[in-house]
Amino acid sequence: MAFQVPGRTRGLAHCRETAVTAARPTSLNLADVEREELPVDVLLVGAGPASLACALHLNKLLAEKGLDDKTVLVIDKAEEIGHHTLSGAVMDPMGIAKLFPDWRERGFPIEAEVEDDWAEWFSAQGSRAMRGIFTPPQLKNHGNVIVSLNKVVRWMAEQAEAAGIEIYAGFPAAEVIYDGERVKGVVTRDSGVGKDRSRKSNFEPGMRIEADVTVFAEGPRGSLAKNLIKKLDLDAGKNPQTYGTGIKEIWEVPEAVGKEMFGKVFHTGGYPLGGDAYGGSWVYGIAPDKLSLGFVIGLDQRDAKLDPHALFVQWKQHPRIAKLLEGGKPIRYGAKVVPEGGYFAMPRLQGDGFCLVGDTAGFLNAATLKGIHLAIQSGMLAAEAIAEALVAGDTSGAKLARYTELFEASAAKRELWSYRNYRQAFDGGLVRGILDFGLQKLTGGRGLVARRKGHTDHSTTGKLSEARMQKPAFDDRLALDKLTDVYLAGAIHEEDQPAHLLIPDPSICVTRCTEEYGNPCQHFCPAAVYEWPEGAKKVVINASNCVHCKTCDIADPYENIEWVVPEGGGGPKYVDM
Ligand code: SF4
Repeated sequence: MAFQVPGRTRGLAHCRETAVTAARPTSLNLADVEREELPVDVLLVGAGPASLACALHLNKLLAEKGLDDKTVLVIDKAEEIGHHTLSGAVMDPMGIAKLFPDWRERGFPIEAEVEDDWAEWFSAQGSRAMRGIFTPPQLKNHGNVIVSLNKVVRWMAEQAEAAGIEIYAGFPAAEVIYDGERVKGVVTRDSGVGKDRSRKSNFEPGMRIEADVTVFAEGPRGSLAKNLIKKLDLDAGKNPQTYGTGIKEIWEVPEAVGKEMFGKVFHTGGYPLGGDAYGGSWVYGIAPDKLSLGFVIGLDQRDAKLDPHALFVQWKQHPRIAKLLEGGKPIRYGAKVVPEGGYFAMPRLQGDGFCLVGDTAGFLNAATLKGIHLAIQSGMLAAEAIAEALVAGDTSGAKLARYTELFEASAAKRELWSYRNYRQAFDGGLVRGILDFGLQKLTGGRGLVARRKGHTDHSTTGKLSEARMQKPAFDDRLALDKLTDVYLAGAIHEEDQPAHLLIPDPSICVTRCTEEYGNPCQHFCPAAVYEWPEGAKKVVINASNCVHCKTCDIADPYENIEWVVPEGGGGPKYVDM
């Protein structure tokens, strides 16, 4: 769905690229540390649906090929698998059905079957429903299931462990090990390092895990994948990836509302957006007494005061949503970015000794707001290429390019190709976007031009003098403030550690950024991590609040924030999200 902020003028003529020139730190690990070494055959970084599908399928293929002595290891930065996993989520079951044809019999966790779906267009006070043939086809969900992705990955991890796959939670990957352009594994994050970078009594050096193949499945804007893509030019000739920030809450609601909404799915457009911002929302009935609510806003809109959390609050205060939430209470909160750039923004999927899968590689259909089924497919396709490479004893990029070949012949490619110009069509505003998208539907995804160009999100930020976004007054009902929501996310980090939000050139913050943009970090962060107290000469970073959404790493107008992994176990604790 697409929306616009009133009064905004838009145009990519305003785009500019402004990278800071200071040296860019990419890890908080200490130098000159003796590290334990762990050799494995295949290492998967991250334990989301793409990674676990890859591990499960690979394990099966290796057994079929008589290579069951090969070691497959999954590591994840969360203290428990699923704690850093977040999605809406309505899932197209085609991905899980490929992985496990008997997924239902195995007890795959389903919150509800989708029983009814529709879209609504919001004005400031009213709403107009689009049902049946008037529901935009990309928002029809008949045959899909409502899931908690958090529960899904826990279930997948159980299947993987039952199959003998090792999974280590609380192991953040901090550095890529390179041998020239070949990836040879990762070093995990040191723990027990104080704020002053001294070794504390509980210091534990990160481990050096070497692998024949490393699969990067860190989710959107992976901190290792970002630098890998840059170092090896994996995005040469591609559109820049573009993102939206999604904010989610789960509400307990009175029985009458919960039962009425159970199994129902609707998406909204319009208020609180109205000009040239791209975004939309969802309401899913996930249990007879619970609703999943969320709002996604494209990070390429121009308002320097863009505040995804504030937009979510304004949307909840709309009479249609406020009525649904009357008598209810929020019990969970979370935020993450989603890669919206589509097919033309996907980086090269492999190189010497590595593959990229899932959100890390841009496997998401922004039009349908779905990526779980694509993530699972990407993991399975990568697994097939990796198994062939291990059989051949050749894990070079040329051999692993089989992954791209398989992808190009897959259902995942056909789906992403049919929406290849979708998101970029809205760069020219809502009306042009809708017209172009209509044309895309008639021309197999092409639209007005064969390939629309993209742009980085941070390059579209408008000047402070043009910023208009108003903040809502917070209360303890619908308009929860960010700190209350951080509490509902369970976000916490060891306080005595270096902040994992690095600012390569702090002088930019207090000079150019303050003057030109008014320090947008204090607005766009959905967890109140960045604060500029009155008269302060530097930003205060409340790193412990961070929910690992990655918005700051993407949206800072000077690319002057580098998100790196904190100590293991830090971050949100998403449960049932
Ligand atoms: Fe998201 Fe960055 Fe804020 Fe953390 S600090 S919650 S990654 S915007």
